[in-house]
This record gives sequence, C-alpha cells and structure tokens, in this order.
Amino acid sequence: MRDAGWLDASRLERDALYLGLLTAREVKPLSRLEYSISNNLYRILVEMGLKLARLTRRAQNGATVPHLVMSLDRRRIADYLAEFDGAVIVGNSPAVIRAEARHFGYPACCAESFSRRGYAPNDLEPADQRILFHHACAGCTETPPLLPAYRAACEESERLFRRQAHPKAPGACVNRAKGTNHDTGRSL
Ligand SMILES: [Zn+2]
Repeated sequence: MRDAGWLDASRLERDALYLGLLTAREVKPLSRLEYSISNNLYRILVEMGLKLARLTRRAQNGATVPHLVMSLDRRRIADYLAEFDGAVIVGNSPAVIRAEARHFGYPACCAESFSRRGYAPNDLEPADQRILFHHACAGCTETPPLLPAYRAACEESERLFRRQAHPKAPGACVNRAKGTNHDTGRSL
C-alpha cells in the first residue's frame, strides 16, 4: 500500500518524522538518521524546509554505513560532513560524544555526564526522558527548558503521522523504543 502515499508504518519512520520536526523548528540544529526512509517521508522533510545530505561512514570491519543528515542550515550540514563523511565509526569516545552533542544540539553538561557515567539516573519524568534524543544529566538545568518544545513537536509529529500514515500504523512517538538507531540512539 506504499504507493497510496502513506508513510511507512514502522517505528523508525515515525521517529524520523519527529526528528525532522524538531530540526525544522530549530529545537535541534541538525539531526542524523542511521537508516533509510521512504520517498514519501523524504518529500515531507524537504517540504518542512530541511536540507538533507547523505554521507557514508565506515564500520571497523570495513563495511560502508549510509547515514542521512538534515538541517535548515547548509553550513551545519557541511560542518558535519567535513567531520564525519567517510570517517570510521569508532564508538562512543568522549570526543565523539562531545562533537555529536555540539552538532545535534544537546547540552554539554549531559554529554559530559554521558561520556563518564552513561545512562546514570536523572531527575526527569520517564515520559519526558523518552521523548528526548539525549540522556539528561542528574540535576540538569539545561534540559527542562527544552522540554516544552520537545513535547509540542512530539504531539505535532503524531498529528502529521496519523494524517500521512497507514491506518494500521502503530501508536505514538512517546512509545519510542529506547536505543533506536538514529541520531544519538547509539550514544547519548
Ligand atoms: Zn545536562
């Protein structure tokens, strides 16, 4: 039924739409997808005003890994490509975590905490932590002010998704699986 113009019913496609909306609203300056998306979703992201670019990372076994980045600002995409296009994926070193936080718009305090303590307990409601793409640090003062914009984008992405998606598509972005492989799913 994909030719009917519906979005893919997959969880990843829903996450990509949510991430696109966060980026189009400049809640996040740039976002990365580590999976391919449908032509329909690509078109929707472009219609939001986003610029998109494909890049290739290399796994440590030599395999190529395609990524997609999106931003309203071509310079941010160029900066990201200059740093990561063609680069070997080295995992979550503190330097990579810091660089990704800078590109993706995550608080530096959370990046530092994540690089030292991983998913350490924080003070957020689980429902709030689930709609973020970074793991907030304990006592974070920078994440709570971001939450209204994340919540609003989450709700709007659900509305958009319901309008565009297959009627049998599953539920909401708030049920997003932890560790989904996008943006910082593998790092923050
Ligand atoms: Zn923080």
